[in-house]
Amino acid sequence: MDIDQLVQPHLFHLKPYTSARDEFHGTAEVYLDANENAYGNELHLQEWHRYPDPYQTSLKQKIAAIKQVDAAQIFLGNGSDENIDLLIRLFCQAQKDHIIICPPTYGMYEVAASIQKVAIIKIPLSIDFQLDLEALQAAACSSSKILFVCSPNNPTGNIISADSIHQVLKFFPGIVAIDEAYIDYAENSQSWVSLLSAYPNLVVIQTLSKAWGLAALRIGMLFGNKNIIAWLNKIKSPYNISLLTQQKAEKALLKAAKMKEYVAQINEQKRKLKQDLKHIRCIQKVYPSDTNFLLIKVSNANHLYQFLLSKKIVVRNRSTQLGCENCLRITVGTASENKRLINALTEFDANI
Ligand SMILES: *Cc1c(COP(=O)(O)O)cnc(C)c1O
Repeated sequence: MDIDQLVQPHLFHLKPYTSARDEFHGTAEVYLDANENAYGNELHLQEWHRYPDPYQTSLKQKIAAIKQVDAAQIFLGNGSDENIDLLIRLFCQAQKDHIIICPPTYGMYEVAASIQKVAIIKIPLSIDFQLDLEALQAAACSSSKILFVCSPNNPTGNIISADSIHQVLKFFPGIVAIDEAYIDYAENSQSWVSLLSAYPNLVVIQTLSKAWGLAALRIGMLFGNKNIIAWLNKIKSPYNISLLTQQKAEKALLKAAKMKEYVAQINEQKRKLKQDLKHIRCIQKVYPSDTNFLLIKVSNANHLYQFLLSKKIVVRNRSTQLGCENCLRITVGTASENKRLINALTEFDANI
């Protein structure tokens, strides 16, 4: 597959913005090229009066080592939200092309496409929340530029079968973007990052917001083949990741063992919570989860949602989502937070 054929035609004529530091590489002694304030700033923070590295070279090297990819296969955005937005900008012509999503799933694919007047075709997941391959194959055409597959899926919590993704990667005419925001919690599944060289149309979306515990930093990681990353670099805003963010992220990435410890702890809490939820009568089903949340089906989701709010506990009401009638999504908290939740649920049970 020729990825260039998928790119919006007008982008071939785009002259990307070149920052001062794009034109000069290496180290100079006097920097008079970027209109910064040479005297510095009131915070007296060294380096902060200079623009940051537009390509986050040092941070990408650390990510490359952890993910076992080439740094040229990494794009960093201001959260995955920016990466989703840029993917659509790169490949989808407004009012002509479309993306395909498989609800119930993450909401931002649809929002980002809608903002850009890109149509959305919905091919719902099956009853067991897996891809409907026949319907996908029937829907896919030359205007299908991106298929978003969320695995593990939000809000259902399950992994999408690897077999079905292999098939989709082979027949889908556009980009297959696999959103792995929760992949670190999946105990029996591999990331698709290791298969980038097998599929030119594969893009993997990950984030530092979940398992890495850095949601406030806003770092989204996108992995793809080099030509896709080069295109994204052409259309991004020049300094999309601040210096502070780059530095803090680099520091956090040194503590991969700690991240894995938290993941193990949360997965342990998830097992315990799941066990405890089984004794709550108003809960009809707890879905299997490869993430840090549990989807539950109850008799009246709105009613329980309001009750939990009255107890100052906020969960996510997903009951308006396709296939999620009367479902609430509950993030696994600390041991004491989970206990508070169980106590509230027990009280709710006693009153029905
Ligand atoms: C939380 C989440 C993200 C993360 O978005 P960021 O912008 O990186 O914080 C991406 N995809 C899914 C499915 C998510 O649930």
